[in-house]
Amino acid sequence: MIYNDIMPETYIGSTTASLKRRFQKHKNASATFCDRKIYKLFNKSNWSMCHIVLLENVKFYDRKELIKRERFFIDLLKPTLNCVVPFRTRKEYRTDNQNSIRIKKKEYYDNISSIKYECDCGRHIQKGKKKRHVLTKYHQNQILKKLKNQPITI
Ligand SMILES: [Zn+2]
Repeated sequence: MIYNDIMPETYIGSTTASLKRRFQKHKNASATFCDRKIYKLFNKSNWSMCHIVLLENVKFYDRKELIKRERFFIDLLKPTLNCVVPFRTRKEYRTDNQNSIRIKKKEYYDNISSIKYECDCGRHIQKGKKKRHVLTKYHQNQILKKLKNQPITI
């Protein structure tokens, strides 16, 4: 785990290299990939404020076991800077991001419902207000008038 003295931000990863080497690799990458969330923040505070600590020494035969432990710690400690959660399913992603998905959906529907269209009665109304509008006296009177004026065809 990488943490910072002056920010609450943390990052969890796994490596087969030594901690020192992994940390140096992150520092080197931070210059090249400075738009990545983790590097953006840590660059801001200066890397001398950042530290790497060992959470667990994992003995494994299959690299998957290592990644599983990484996932375990990510779920447990909820680091703020991990964008990619290993082994996360689509469904889990949706649950984790439910709030932002909900906000996006609301924005989408707000947009849709603010689009105006011309009603049969001649009024321009917002799509989202159609249900309420068709129940108004105005709308019903206009429609009735229209019907009465229509030539009757036999
Ligand atoms: Zn109408």
